[in-house]
Amino acid sequence: MRHLLGFVCCLVIFGAVANAGGTEYEEYFADKGLRIDLFHTGTATTEIFSLDDLIEQPYWGGNPRSLIDTLNLGGYLVRVFDLQTNKQIFSRGYCTLFGEWVTTDEAIAEFSRTFHESVIIPYPLRPVQVRIDRRDRNNIFRNVFDMLIDPADYHIRKEKRCSHFKVRKLVENGPADRKVDLVILGDGYRKDEMHKLREDSDRFIAAMFTTEPFKSRKRDFNVRLVETLSLDSSVDEPRKGIYKNNFLGLSFNTFDLERYMLSIQNKPIRDAASRAPYDLVVIIANTDRYGGGGIFNLYSISCSDNEYDEYVFVHELGHALAGLADEYYSSDVAYNDMYPRGIEPWEKNITALLDAKNIKWGDMIEGDTPIPTPPDSIYADVVGCFEGAGYSAEGLYRSSLDCRMFSKSLIDFCPVCRRAIEEVIDFHTR
Ligand SMILES: [Zn+2]
Repeated sequence: MRHLLGFVCCLVIFGAVANAGGTEYEEYFADKGLRIDLFHTGTATTEIFSLDDLIEQPYWGGNPRSLIDTLNLGGYLVRVFDLQTNKQIFSRGYCTLFGEWVTTDEAIAEFSRTFHESVIIPYPLRPVQVRIDRRDRNNIFRNVFDMLIDPADYHIRKEKRCSHFKVRKLVENGPADRKVDLVILGDGYRKDEMHKLREDSDRFIAAMFTTEPFKSRKRDFNVRLVETLSLDSSVDEPRKGIYKNNFLGLSFNTFDLERYMLSIQNKPIRDAASRAPYDLVVIIANTDRYGGGGIFNLYSISCSDNEYDEYVFVHELGHALAGLADEYYSSDVAYNDMYPRGIEPWEKNITALLDAKNIKWGDMIEGDTPIPTPPDSIYADVVGCFEGAGYSAEGLYRSSLDCRMFSKSLIDFCPVCRRAIEEVIDFHTR
């Protein structure tokens, strides 16, 4: 018993040093992470989670002063309760691959699929209840999964994974608990291409920090590169019959779309990312084909050698870091009814304009701006409500004529997207 108490005291003291200022954190959590691996199974109308594995993480990269999520972003919400007091001690919004897939024809036809997911929480010191809620069609969170976790359970794995991958600090501005920590992983880079992964990473980071609001907030970021090795160069292109032995499993034609490039191989991504403290995983795919993807609090993915690659890198970061919606409406997508009619989307940069007197970015609209705002060049620099957004030409509105989330023009984010990104940066650094 004495030995056990000594162990707990050590953890508390360590947490206190590393997370100075986060008193709640020290009371409930150790200075490391707990990865909860889940299988997420269902169709468009059903879904269940089941536990796969529990894995101790060497780092939890988040902000100990932002344990409770105040951003209200994401289709899913994980909440952690101290079992003894039933006090909510942690929450985080996020999106999932399953959540996108359920809007595809395959899911609507009631075909059932399973996606592997991880939820990462700070490592609890005492038994906790973990709950996962999902927004229903009216955007109300409903409970879909519950489990108890005893941190003393010896089934929680503790081995360090991917320890053979080197970690490089690319941008270092301070301790992880006070910064937005990006971890860059490369996919489809062989050992003899590691120099290219370093060069690609440096180039993308430079592009990111010349785009507002990242430019003004550069000192709020840390960026680390995990030199992720693949046996083959490049990534899968199923429509062309090209299949590579790429470590992170990136593939074009996700949901059978030409340019959508994601990975359904969650474990190697999380294993590689665990080498560094992180708030967000950013993956560079070693390919000259145009493509990528970004899912809020899951990952941001970009191609590496296409004329639009720097645009893609920053655009996908908008999805993955701040949960921004696509503002375009003319491209081919696999989704059906991604934004149900008559329901206000939770994303900060699009609106269904259900109440013209209560627009979510109304405080940024000048009094004499017509609502809806005509798509006229005289309104090019005006915040308004322009019809056409979120894959729909009608019924959804964006705040500016153009934006990094709207077109491939290499402009900055619109003022509304910029503010949304800054709110997330503030959440991670306050
Ligand atoms: Zn925008």
